[in-house]
Amino acid sequence: MLSGAFYSAFFLEQEMTDTSMQSDLLQRFIFDDVPVRGEWVHLTDSWQQVLARRNYPPAIQQLLGEMMAAAALLAATVKIKGRLVLQIKSVGPVTLMMVECTSKNTLRAFAQWDGDVADNTALLDLTGDGTLAITIEVNGAKQPYQGVVSLQGNSISDVLEVYFQQSEQLKTRIWLAENDNVVAGLFLQQLPDEHQDEEDWSTISQLAATVTANELLELGADTLLYRLFSEQQCRLLAATELSFACNCSRDRVATSISFLGKKDADDLLKEQGSIEVTCEFCNEHYYFDNIEVAQVFVEEKVISSNSETLH
Ligand SMILES: [Zn+2]
Repeated sequence: MLSGAFYSAFFLEQEMTDTSMQSDLLQRFIFDDVPVRGEWVHLTDSWQQVLARRNYPPAIQQLLGEMMAAAALLAATVKIKGRLVLQIKSVGPVTLMMVECTSKNTLRAFAQWDGDVADNTALLDLTGDGTLAITIEVNGAKQPYQGVVSLQGNSISDVLEVYFQQSEQLKTRIWLAENDNVVAGLFLQQLPDEHQDEEDWSTISQLAATVTANELLELGADTLLYRLFSEQQCRLLAATELSFACNCSRDRVATSISFLGKKDADDLLKEQGSIEVTCEFCNEHYYFDNIEVAQVFVEEKVISSNSETLH
């Protein structure tokens, strides 16, 4: 007993060192004999970057963290140049939650909510009626792909499993965990295969279902997968590093001011003296005074007259 306890404490210490060395990492894996693909993700630095920008009540922090791990897992299943966005729109207290993961392996996330939120509030009490939209934008494509599923079940992984069942008809299981330091996730999906054996899927998914939140949060991919699938010939593929990044800029804000139209922009200037825009993702503040707003519309005119010349 004593030596066993010593061994597991030693083991954990080793693993925590490993995890801190590879703080934001997505690891894909496959099985030699079973048509199932898997992914494991750990986000530490990027999660800290999100938490540093806003104080979230614990229940909302947990949901946001799980959404962030889920976005990284889902983005890794689509091989595109572009971005994947998970968005909750709901009646509240949480009214909006957005997480983006790009093909440049960057992540950003925020949540908006009204009023006080008690700790341990369940998913549907946190959101009320609402939907989760999964949007995939491919660079250069005219229309994004969007799948929408209503919020139901006890967790965001329940909602996503229903989404995969409905949209792709591929059996999918997702486990997500979050604490103040790290968010983590594990993803398994049955691959379309004529030799698909339901028993294989059920063995693999039942083994994975023994994973605990602590194991997800504390163990590195190799240790966790070995622990779960020691007899399954699980093979690790290349790992991907992820990081926090926001692509907001003064130019993009200027473009959105131009979309308002000159009249609305002038009305705002009259009301507030300047136009102030804050990026929800990174909290960057952008100020435009009278002269700078006028400049936006002068530049817009130049651009549109140039494009008229071209036509
Ligand atoms: Zn930003």
